[in-house]
Amino acid sequence: MTWPATVLTLYPEMFPGPLGSSLAGRALEGGIWSLETVHIRDFATDKHRSVDDTPAGGGAGMVMRADVLASAVDDVLTRRPEAPMLAMTPRGAPLTQAMVRELSAGLGVSILCGRFEGIDERLFEARPIVPVSIGDYILSGGEMAALTLLDACVRLLPGVMGAALSGEDESFETGLLEYPHYTRPVIWEGRRIPEVLRSGDHAKIAAWRKARAAEDTRLRRPDLVERHGDARRPPPSGARHED
Ligand code: SAM
Repeated sequence: MTWPATVLTLYPEMFPGPLGSSLAGRALEGGIWSLETVHIRDFATDKHRSVDDTPAGGGAGMVMRADVLASAVDDVLTRRPEAPMLAMTPRGAPLTQAMVRELSAGLGVSILCGRFEGIDERLFEARPIVPVSIGDYILSGGEMAALTLLDACVRLLPGVMGAALSGEDESFETGLLEYPHYTRPVIWEGRRIPEVLRSGDHAKIAAWRKARAAEDTRLRRPDLVERHGDARRPPPSGARHED
């Protein structure tokens, strides 16, 4: 079944952009996912086809109009009611791998891309739209954020990644960063691949990787340890703990 993505944007020419290459591009060509762009300006009603106006209360920049956006959103929600409608905004919940997994296991996604100073807040009150951020920095528009989110989802769709299991070990899947990787040459600029990785002893390799993942996470992302530390400690009963 095709996983449908719909992007509402003022810059439809930005899509598929980088998602037309490599894994995602092949999957798009192969019909594993589909991409439709909806031009927000097509829903403007005045003769200038305006989609934005000055901010209430004053200040710099322009704000995307709720009435124009609502018409575009309603059009997509009517045609694709099964796909969640997201809006890319730095004011949204941070995108996580858990969210990406949930979206890619679902019935597609629709994504509203903001521009200018952002979107009239009343749109979020009036329509079932989930605000999502890709990080604590400001992009000039939601398109790059939408491409990022789509890339993360598409690679998890069945048939997109080569090995069925690739992806399960990756950073964030277990609440940890992934262990580090190495490949030939065995010695490069005097630096040798850790001996254990060349030992052929799978149990030892797995233990080394687990320890490095834990150590690197502790050093680089103490916030992840804080968030997931308790969840990964075995429960007192010894029963299996689902996290
Ligand atoms: N004035 C807004 C603020 O300070 O929150 C920033 C607006 S930004 C210049 C224009 C658009 O880029 C936003 O409406 C949003 O769609 C997108 N955008 C910028 N940063 C983003 C982020 N970190 N995550 C998701 N979307 C982002």
